[in-house]
Amino acid sequence: MEQVKVLIIGSGPAGYTAAIYAARAGMNPVLYTGGQPGGQLTITTDVENYPGYPEGIMGPEMMEDFRKQAERFGTQVRYGLVTQVDFNAQPHRIVVDDQKTILADTVIISTGASAKWLGLESETRLNGRGVSACAVCDGFFFRGQEVAIVGAGDTACEEASYLANICSKVYMIIRRDEMRASQIMQNRVKNNPKIEILWNTETQEILGDQEVTGMRIINSKTNEISEIPISGFFVAIGHQPNTEIFKNFISMDAAGYIQTIPGTSKTNIAGVFACGDAQDNVYRQAVTAAGTGCMAALDAERYLAALEIH
Ligand code: NDP
Repeated sequence: MEQVKVLIIGSGPAGYTAAIYAARAGMNPVLYTGGQPGGQLTITTDVENYPGYPEGIMGPEMMEDFRKQAERFGTQVRYGLVTQVDFNAQPHRIVVDDQKTILADTVIISTGASAKWLGLESETRLNGRGVSACAVCDGFFFRGQEVAIVGAGDTACEEASYLANICSKVYMIIRRDEMRASQIMQNRVKNNPKIEILWNTETQEILGDQEVTGMRIINSKTNEISEIPISGFFVAIGHQPNTEIFKNFISMDAAGYIQTIPGTSKTNIAGVFACGDAQDNVYRQAVTAAGTGCMAALDAERYLAALEIH
């Protein structure tokens, strides 16, 4: 059976950065890409907030660069989905595509998180053409324009406030007659003259052919349907960390985010490290994910050195 020193699960900025560091440290990492090679950045367009790209870069292109850099130093990048793990034994046991089993002295989890979506056909069709799940990433493209955001949690409030700084008007679409967000965040949006809150409102359809031009919404109390012109439609109804397969072994919070020892990438299992959005529901940025990926590789290297596995 194949045995590797470092097995990296996931191919976003965290996983590839871990791979770059692990490969350069001579640990011959093997990285499994998961079902969405390149991760969440492959479904965004321009990335303008990643340092080192003064003109910005397309998300998919940036992830290609990450992959090439990881491969340049000897990372084996393999297409495949890790479907099962057994962290009870050392070395750890990893099953890929329900078929192949690999043993790993250390495992770096960088499986990321997925934004939750409303599930509308128009939302999928117009994704990246005005529909976005990340105001910090994409808000800038709608400066001076009218946009909408769905959700009533802290993220939605934070992103609505962020958008209000850039856009001429922000409609906040809230399905109930109250918000889930903390009081301070609620007050912030309620007191912002550029934010109009639409209570008891659901989105029926996002309008537009090639790009978002409006939205059709319904008030669930009055059944009144209205169409409002907008050019950006943001969804902020929560994220789901991709950590389901680890839950029998790894300590997580109630939402499924992996708990790491503060200031490290260490999990509750020796030799298993976590980085990126799988363990971060606060910052969720490419650059913070990359930073924690670096931490995971250094932690894995030190762990192997202590075990004298070279
Ligand atoms: P939450 O789960 O807290 O909120 C999700 C929101 O989306 C809820 O208002 C929910 O409505 C709404 N929603 C869910 N599904 C739908 C749907 N299908 N249609 C319309 N609306 C929907 O997620 P967040 O991402 O906001 O926050 C996650 C965690 O991160 C929270 O614990 C939050 O406090 C924390 N956080 C903290 C921040 C801070 O302190 N600065 C910033 C950001 C997040 P409903 O209420 O009706 O269920």
